[in-house]
Amino acid sequence: MTTHFKYEKTLVVIKPDGVQRSLIGEIIKRYERAGLKLVAMKMFVPTPEFIETHYTLDPEWRRITGEKTIKGYKDKGLVPPTEDPLEVTRILLERLKAYFTSGPAIAMVWQGAHSVAIVRKLTGSTEPLTSDVGTIRGDYVIDSYQMTDLDGRSIRNLIHATGTVEEAEMEIKHWFKDEEIINYRLVQEQIIYDVNLDGILE
Ligand code: ADP
Ligand code: MG
Repeated sequence: MTTHFKYEKTLVVIKPDGVQRSLIGEIIKRYERAGLKLVAMKMFVPTPEFIETHYTLDPEWRRITGEKTIKGYKDKGLVPPTEDPLEVTRILLERLKAYFTSGPAIAMVWQGAHSVAIVRKLTGSTEPLTSDVGTIRGDYVIDSYQMTDLDGRSIRNLIHATGTVEEAEMEIKHWFKDEEIINYRLVQEQIIYDVNLDGILE
């Protein structure tokens, strides 16, 4: 038996800048109103080791993120600080640890059909300078690779959201124990997923 789309889960973490900018409610609202279901949530200050493990759960993350950063420079006609993707992420990981451990973060698991892709779409792309208008990062953040390189810090883009369905399971396991994830029925799911809509009229 294949699992129904509606059971797909994704990890979202409001990073310390999201908490400090009083955007917790606004961020949660964006996912909630899309029709996704919140199935786990907690607040804590992550350690540097916890953050390094999180970002390196995917062995390809170092290469992909380095290449994406280099492309971000070239697309704007700029020269990247280095052509070596792994050097980009070595520096980046140190900056990410400082950023992500600077204060409390809020970790959540959201469930619903295509939740990984839907959450990424609502969140917007990594660099706020080029994130689409209407996305959370596009609407609430001013930041760029150029500026963060000049200042030697991580991009502050409010949120971590899992990139792929394969990564979701690993990331959720890293942030939550099984018993912290709650199986429950949300009444609106009947309208979103029910095939016949035959329970409405009296
Ligand atoms: P995303 O969070 O969009 O999946 P990545 O996984 O590529 O992005 O990177 C993780 C986080 O590292 C980003 O959200 C951002 O905070 C930071 N980051 C990524 N690339 C850079 C960069 N080139 N300079 C500064 N910070 C970066
Ligand atoms: Mg990522």
